[in-house]
Amino acid sequence: MTRTGRMTVASTPEELREARRPCPSPFGLVPTMGALHAGHAALVRRARAECASVGASLFVNPTQFGPAEDLSKYPRTLGRDLELLEACGADVVYTPRAEEVYPDGFQTFVTVERLSVPLEGASRPDHFRGVATVVAKLFLAFAPDRAYFGQKDAQQVAVVRRMVRDLGFPLRVVVVPTVRERDGLALSSRNAYLSPAERASAPVLFRALSSAREAFDRGERSGGRLRTAMRSVLAREPLAEPLYVSVADPETLEELGEAAGDLLLSLAVRVGPTRLIDNFLLERGRWETGILEG
Ligand code: AMP
Repeated sequence: MTRTGRMTVASTPEELREARRPCPSPFGLVPTMGALHAGHAALVRRARAECASVGASLFVNPTQFGPAEDLSKYPRTLGRDLELLEACGADVVYTPRAEEVYPDGFQTFVTVERLSVPLEGASRPDHFRGVATVVAKLFLAFAPDRAYFGQKDAQQVAVVRRMVRDLGFPLRVVVVPTVRERDGLALSSRNAYLSPAERASAPVLFRALSSAREAFDRGERSGGRLRTAMRSVLAREPLAEPLYVSVADPETLEELGEAAGDLLLSLAVRVGPTRLIDNFLLERGRWETGILEG
């Protein structure tokens, strides 16, 4: 166990238990894979504002990566991450090794069945099983009262909320708006992979979502036509290869023929070799489209 200023860094479950014990309630947890940016900082600051103690985890979770995905080259910036967490007011940071989270012979997984199948799940079949399993383990290890997740990963939010209800975790899930660059690109650790030309194309995700939102605001309610609005913006960007565009119920993730109440506009696009995702959420008649930085 080490201390940086007033923050404790625990790297084993035993150290985490010791660091967690004296923390006053409510305890807020921010799970992350590191390579932190202003989006993660927004989660930690929100937790700091709402909770008496704040914990964060830095763990590149192998079980949520597919065999052909970027586990080995996922950016790792531990020193900077700890500085950012300390600056945002975290009390406890957990940096476990994979062998500790997944001991030899590991075979107990959490599967949120139907919500893990569409959208991201269609091309990443075991992704949400890995997410749900590690988040469940972090909930058991930290015993938080609140857990903070980004709207950026809307399907992850749906999966975690369902798991919390189904397994009866005694905590509240808090969702924080997507933090964006000034041109609309959602901050992501994977943006570091983009070449300058790809970076210039990447705001097409935001433009596509914006065009569907504008169509909705002009009265368009057909799910099909809202999807077409997104696709036609993406088609004009040569470096962007659309993987899916979706107009779905935010809780069940079922595709909507006709938009009636809440809805989630979401898409995944390959820009060069990098897979980017983004979404806008309409909740109780109000759009949640994120916050432009700067
Ligand atoms: P990750 O490290 O990518 O697993 O993300 C950790 C948490 O930060 C997740 O809850 C993400 O949804 C959230 N997050 C990632 N990017 C952003 C962003 N641009 N704005 C808000 N939250 C984000």
